[in-house]
Amino acid sequence: MPELPEAQTIASDLDRALAGARVKSTELLYRPTLAGPLALSDLDGSAFEGASRRGKCVILAFGGGLRLLASLRMTGQFVFGHSPVGAASPGGAGAGGAGEAEPRAGSRGKRVWPPHVRAALVLEGFSGPDGEDSLMFRDIRKFGRLFVCRASEEEFLLPASAKGPDVTAIAPGEFYRRLASSKAPVKTLLMDQAAMAGLGNIYATEILFEAGISPFRPASSIAREESDIILKAAGEILGEAVRMRGSTISNYQAPLGPGSYQQRHRAYGKAGRPCPRCGRTLEKVRSSGRTTVYCPNCQR
Ligand SMILES: [Zn+2]
Repeated sequence: MPELPEAQTIASDLDRALAGARVKSTELLYRPTLAGPLALSDLDGSAFEGASRRGKCVILAFGGGLRLLASLRMTGQFVFGHSPVGAASPGGAGAGGAGEAEPRAGSRGKRVWPPHVRAALVLEGFSGPDGEDSLMFRDIRKFGRLFVCRASEEEFLLPASAKGPDVTAIAPGEFYRRLASSKAPVKTLLMDQAAMAGLGNIYATEILFEAGISPFRPASSIAREESDIILKAAGEILGEAVRMRGSTISNYQAPLGPGSYQQRHRAYGKAGRPCPRCGRTLEKVRSSGRTTVYCPNCQR
């Protein structure tokens, strides 16, 4: 699941690649992907004005005060693609009825949208690295959601994955206050998007390893000095991960290429291997479907 560095990379790629583009037409291939309140086709004819990130959410701005908010969830991806011939015909957008509407079968060799594409913007004034003309939202697991809205509705509609203050922008005193007021395990709180937005399992694991703090300690037991160490580790790790375009594990992919921060992971995904700091075996604990890896010796 994309976290802050991956969402930032996607937003930066789109901001750069789509400059000067305009939406020619839209296609909604899987209706539940669009969570409202406006129709995807309300973007037809509008100019792309920029892309940004809030928490793990990617936000595309269009002329006329329109926004496309993307909650990528497990497997949502923005990728460039070629629109099928005839895809932009009137009445094409939103076709498919309720529920699953896989790309329509091609007749007589007509191209269709690739598998798992749930929505697409056919663009003009844009040409991708391979001459693509479209921005596709591909989502294998189908948990991702798109919201088309007015700029004034953005704050209200932001998915839960973007609600809290950004973990890269939170002040040290505020960060400590949020830890001190929670009895949840510190790792759980770091991943609570309402408390602070941007972190998931990968970076929470890496940050606590770097800070030498046990992921299971109640957040309220973290002293101010420890809180400052955690926040400093977060800034360094997230900064480096953004520079390396995020961690390409499972199926994360950014529009202009994969990330490489997975090469720097020291704890995430390393259970059973020696701790890079003390040599003791990294341990794995599984709870509520989530795996936590940590060093019982270095993380107290
Ligand atoms: Zn260790």
